[in-house]
Amino acid sequence: MPYLSLQNLTKTFHGTPAVRELWLDVNPGERISLLGPSGCGKSTTLQLMAGILQPDQGDIFLEARSLRRVPPEKRGMALVLQKGMLFPHLSVGENVAFGLKMRGVSRVEQAERAIAMLDQVQLSGFENRSPSELSGGQAQRVAVARSLVIQPKLLLLDEPLSALDASLRSDMQELILRLQDETGVTLIIVTHDQSEAIVMSHRVALMFDGCLRQVDTPEALYQHP
Ligand code: ADP
Ligand code: ADP
Repeated sequence: MPYLSLQNLTKTFHGTPAVRELWLDVNPGERISLLGPSGCGKSTTLQLMAGILQPDQGDIFLEARSLRRVPPEKRGMALVLQKGMLFPHLSVGENVAFGLKMRGVSRVEQAERAIAMLDQVQLSGFENRSPSELSGGQAQRVAVARSLVIQPKLLLLDEPLSALDASLRSDMQELILRLQDETGVTLIIVTHDQSEAIVMSHRVALMFDGCLRQVDTPEALYQHP
């Protein structure tokens, strides 16, 4: 059984399928992108993985275990959206520590791990700031820190860089690649940007109209004869 296996997933909204009979296997430590035009079902697929949505048909297996009855917080997955959606009334440090607090980690360890994680996203000393003081790029780095601090098996990124300008975007790409390499977390990234998919992934999964069309390495997909 593959590490992560999406098997025959279908999700319909009001009679219109957003994801159709989707099969995909992912290796541990792999970086894979879901690439396709707006509305093709990428976010829906990611939300099915995260357990925010339930499929009408099909199942997802992680380490050979069906996730059908596993709630989002028990799936070992962390989801980052286009805008990180930090809690505005919590400090940066409290935002990063939030998942640890939910898991009953002691206050001392929460603070230590949050500070260490902020250091890893190059935001040392930001723990007492308010999210409202952060730039867009800084806020996204806090969102990534908040996700990785719980040491997820899978990091699910939904267009995490599309709200950033071009130079920030390439810095963030580098940062995410470095963190993925250091942690070995399996990375699934949703994007409509072909060049981002090529830079970020071992394999690219091309989606169109709810269907997975082709899955292959960037080299195989985009080499020109
Ligand atoms: P890196 O490029 O970060 O060094 P690795 O080569 O260590 O990544 O690969 C990490 C894991 O990702 C591998 O163990 C493998 O399971 C998976 N992987 C890498 N490339 C591919 C690929 N082209 N297709 C499928 N899985 C891959
Ligand atoms: P993508 O991420 O590729 O832009 P989505 O997965 O967000 O695509 O959307 C796929 C299709 O499903 C679109 O037609 C979208 O309008 C529809 N859709 C997504 N979420 C919902 C929802 N909660 N209710 C109704 N329709 C939805």
